[in-house]
Amino acid sequence: MSERIILRNAIVVTLNEADDVHFGGTVVIEGDRIAQVTADAVPADGARVIDATDRIVMPGLVDFHCHTAIGKSWGSNLPLLEYLQSWWYPAVRALDPETAYWAALATYSESIKCGVTAVNDMYRQLEAVAEAAERLGIRAVLANVVATDEHNLDTLADNERVFRAKNGAANGRIGVRVGIEWLPLASEELLRDARALADELGTGLHIHLSESLGAVEISKEMYGRRPAEVAYDCGILGPDCIAAHCIWLSDVELALLRETHTNVAHCPSSAAWGGAGVARLPELAAAGLNVGLGHDSAEGNNSCDMFEVMKFASLLQRVSRLDPNLGQAPDVLRMACRNGNRGLGIDAGELSPGKKADLIVIDTRSQMFTPLMPGSKDHLFAHLVLAANGSCVETVIVDGNLVYENREFTTIDEDEVLREANRCFREVVARMEASSRLG
Ligand SMILES: [Zn+2]
Repeated sequence: MSERIILRNAIVVTLNEADDVHFGGTVVIEGDRIAQVTADAVPADGARVIDATDRIVMPGLVDFHCHTAIGKSWGSNLPLLEYLQSWWYPAVRALDPETAYWAALATYSESIKCGVTAVNDMYRQLEAVAEAAERLGIRAVLANVVATDEHNLDTLADNERVFRAKNGAANGRIGVRVGIEWLPLASEELLRDARALADELGTGLHIHLSESLGAVEISKEMYGRRPAEVAYDCGILGPDCIAAHCIWLSDVELALLRETHTNVAHCPSSAAWGGAGVARLPELAAAGLNVGLGHDSAEGNNSCDMFEVMKFASLLQRVSRLDPNLGQAPDVLRMACRNGNRGLGIDAGELSPGKKADLIVIDTRSQMFTPLMPGSKDHLFAHLVLAANGSCVETVIVDGNLVYENREFTTIDEDEVLREANRCFREVVARMEASSRLG
């Protein structure tokens, strides 16, 4: 249950408008909200006190585009289209609620351990996935893998059913959006229907867009124009739409995203893994677009660690443009924390009174954060984005609840989750093999 919690003696990285960092500061949580953030000490008054000496307290990271992974690192040495056809689609067709449930718990628990407080997950069997998120305590926005009927994935009716069953569950921790897998598995009619459904339900959209040159070529063949042009014409784009990847954008497409205030989920490590390209981040930022970061999929990336994603976001820009001034740590940190929450409509992403209490505690007593100049904000931010990995996270609070405390989950038996996720992976592989023998 939520309670009054005081984190004291902390290095408080607020990420507020003024970008305040309090060395030796205090954060007070009451219920699901932050009540107070101060450079001073606060009397305990019966609250639960966490001594955060030598710890950073900061907003949780948001995984702005991801997929639960049933088969992490499995069958993953193929080009994107071949990989999707030979492994990913057959695997997600072979899911049932139970296998999706344990896969989601395994995936989300890795995310929590790496300091993620909210995920934007496009996947199947979403009632079960929502139950996993509810049990674990993570914040999850879910969208189905919707495609035209012949692909035997999800339909808009599936998505609507999940919305009506789960949107707003767990004190609002669970959200449901309308998903569209991507243009090669869609039609203009489906895209228009998806927008109509999102408007009817009063929710947003989640889609893959321009994630490879191959996707652009297919769009030109199928629709006679580039991906963002098709999405624009069919009404998909908008401030309530999160478009993942957006790598190969023409200037015209960039202008369409800007005109519609579409959110972009930048997935640099996934794009690097797939040899897909480097998104035009400086141009996206110059256009004033809200860009968050995502790991995409541990099946095509092998890790849910958003610290790793932050480092990729910084370094890929530098090496591709031959400009070490790009990808500065404070900008990357804001993309991971503030922009992700903003795009998902979550009232979090900075430590300020009144905001949702989604925050993490990081132990600096390790080689990762050594040396650390006392009182140096720049040093701290550079360590967070370029030196750290997810193992620095000690405690995670979501919606005012301690879901991971001193590196232990409070809500799940971690050994059971790993054991069951392994069993479910083998079951799905066996089902896939059986159906390919029949087919
Ligand atoms: Zn994806």
